[in-house]
Amino acid sequence: MRTRQSHPNLPIKPCLLGAHFSIAKGLHQALYDANHYGCNAAQIFTKNANTWKERTLTSKEIELFKAAQQDTGILDIASHTSYLINLATQDPRKLALSREALKQELKRCTQLGIPWVVLHPGAHMGAGAKEGIKQIAAEINILFEAVPDRNTGLALEATAGQGSSIGHCFEHLSAIMDAVKEKGRLGICLDTCHIFAAGYDLRTVEVYEATMAEFDRVIGLQHLKVIHLNDSKKELGTRVDRHANIGEGHIGIDTFRYLMNDQRLVAVPKILETPKKKDQGQDLDAINLKRLRKLIKLS
Ligand code: FE
Ligand code: FE
Ligand code: ZN
Repeated sequence: MRTRQSHPNLPIKPCLLGAHFSIAKGLHQALYDANHYGCNAAQIFTKNANTWKERTLTSKEIELFKAAQQDTGILDIASHTSYLINLATQDPRKLALSREALKQELKRCTQLGIPWVVLHPGAHMGAGAKEGIKQIAAEINILFEAVPDRNTGLALEATAGQGSSIGHCFEHLSAIMDAVKEKGRLGICLDTCHIFAAGYDLRTVEVYEATMAEFDRVIGLQHLKVIHLNDSKKELGTRVDRHANIGEGHIGIDTFRYLMNDQRLVAVPKILETPKKKDQGQDLDAINLKRLRKLIKLS
């Protein structure tokens, strides 16, 4: 029997903390890497996120991934979908490609036992947010019918609002949820950089609480399934998505202290998507994770 490896400095329970890890050395290797960094949550891509090229998992890959889940105890895993998918596109060819890619992604994740697939809702390309929202919800209904396995859910990510992207206000996300039939299969992913760039302030305890209250009122905190922890290189409301290291952007370290100690969010995996720079001899994941862990108040 394999022994579960625990990290020597792991004071992170009960907070679920992780980062996005590369699958370059295999899907399973991402979980061992996460474990190496003392994480108890992780995000991966299950394929190259920048191409339409699909990928079918071999039974060996699935077996190795499940063994890695056992070995590391990491079960709170999210898969981020390809950046090319756009369920709100007006181009029929792109819509067909998006539909198929998302279906394959959801299938792979059910095979791997990954609970959440994170999806950017889409960009309406000029058709208007209302039309886009309608189309996204219709596509999700088609998707859920095509993949009846309910073990993996879809988490819609709040966006920064670049271009015609949908999901930069909580109302967009709740409107999509309202029009999806199988609501239990749908959740929300909050990205701190995105919502800040979209205009939701988080910088003082008062505005942090107000933003959370707004989320709870419009969507419901029970639907929050994944959090992306990123500081922002751009100012509040700029609608430009540029991730910064924790405490080095316009959001600032205090917000991450509120988040890491927010008892309502204990069971929600918190995932770093900050620059890595490992190739430049730095290990920014280690630095950012350490910064976050230091914020946790032990009571
Ligand atoms: Fe994302
Ligand atoms: Fe994100
Ligand atoms: Zn982003």
